[in-house]
Amino acid sequence: MTNRFPPHGRNRDDVLDELEANKSDDVDWRGGRVGLYTHFGGDDVLEVAKDASRIYFSENALGPSAFPSLARLENDVISWTLGLLNGDDTAAGSMTSGGTESILMAVKTARDWAREHHPNIEEPVVVAPYSAHPAFNKAAHYLGLVVRRVPIGDDFRADLDRMRDAIDESTIMLVGSAPQFAHGVFDPIPELAALAQEKNLWLHIDACVGGFIAPFARELGRPIPDFDFTVPGVMSMSADLHKYGFTAKGASTFLLCDESLRKYQVFEFDEWSRGHYASPTVPGTRPGGPIAAAWAVLNYLGWDGYVQIATELFDAIDRLKEGIRSIDGLSIIADPPLTILSYTSSTYDIFAVAEAMTQRGWLVTRSAEPRAIHMGMLTMTHVPVVDQYLSDLADSVQAAKAGRVKANDEAITYGG
Ligand SMILES: *Cc1c(COP(=O)(O)O)cnc(C)c1O
Repeated sequence: MTNRFPPHGRNRDDVLDELEANKSDDVDWRGGRVGLYTHFGGDDVLEVAKDASRIYFSENALGPSAFPSLARLENDVISWTLGLLNGDDTAAGSMTSGGTESILMAVKTARDWAREHHPNIEEPVVVAPYSAHPAFNKAAHYLGLVVRRVPIGDDFRADLDRMRDAIDESTIMLVGSAPQFAHGVFDPIPELAALAQEKNLWLHIDACVGGFIAPFARELGRPIPDFDFTVPGVMSMSADLHKYGFTAKGASTFLLCDESLRKYQVFEFDEWSRGHYASPTVPGTRPGGPIAAAWAVLNYLGWDGYVQIATELFDAIDRLKEGIRSIDGLSIIADPPLTILSYTSSTYDIFAVAEAMTQRGWLVTRSAEPRAIHMGMLTMTHVPVVDQYLSDLADSVQAAKAGRVKANDEAITYGG
């Protein structure tokens, strides 16, 4: 075969039907069978996001002079997000394609800031808690930095003394998460910020998960530690629209405490035939759809819409936690205040339980340290299936205790 390319155009309906049929072996995310990769705020929210994406399907945010309307939408989204996370009037930001790109921009901006503020450092080091997202290593790998991961404390949060000990003359940046993905807890952000200020280091707060849910949880009276720009010393943050903003995928925010730091973020270039080129984030061509969808969903839900979703979600999560705790031998790891939940057992093999849950049609993800079932990030698909989940879990625990099911060591991991 020399040419695999589709030889002739096909009927539109056939093509689209084939696409729909192609999904048949995917997990039933809509039925709440997985807590990863999709975030659902309701069918109405999804339709608003889809319709808004269609309106801006072809427009390209690379060209703000051609499409000033997209620049306005992005400015609105950034300004609302900064409001949510208590940035002041000098704070700034950009929309990116996702949390990974936001973190890449954080590491890049910190690196270029350090070239000016720590000019003698040749091999810059980022000091991060062991629980920080892999995107920091991905960024460092791309950008020629090193990440030093520091063991976390017994409470699964960054251990301040160990973080302090890990800082040396090559360190440019500290990282904290709000919350971290593995156990769902917040690192001690005010203490990390004080340490960063004392050592003159960049501090990035990864609020990819918490950015669009923690403020609403707080509104409901739930105890949420300080994590945002109210904390002096927080230089940058990442907050994912496509997680708890419930907007279209391909949307996150990278935020700076002060617009004067933007010069370390933006890439500018003149030495080619076409003339001046300037770009604040990784892509050249930037789809208008995710920007328009974010603008539309934030407007459609508004503050009270997000509070309503949070009310229903936390009610379901409280029921889940209570149900898990009432099953003999299970315990919830740490004390996660938001929507990430993982649990383990010290009396039987939790990965055998995971296997039994898999046999019951749940896509169960495992956490490595400690061995645990990780429920991912709970959203509105999970609200109607709490009782079903708990009853399958009770059966699965019985099966594991009785040795009727074995752990599967090749089971699915995050991204796997
Ligand atoms: C999801 C996540 C990221 C990465 O975001 P992507 O949108 O998947 O690139 C970063 N940090 C945390 C804590 C996350 O949960």
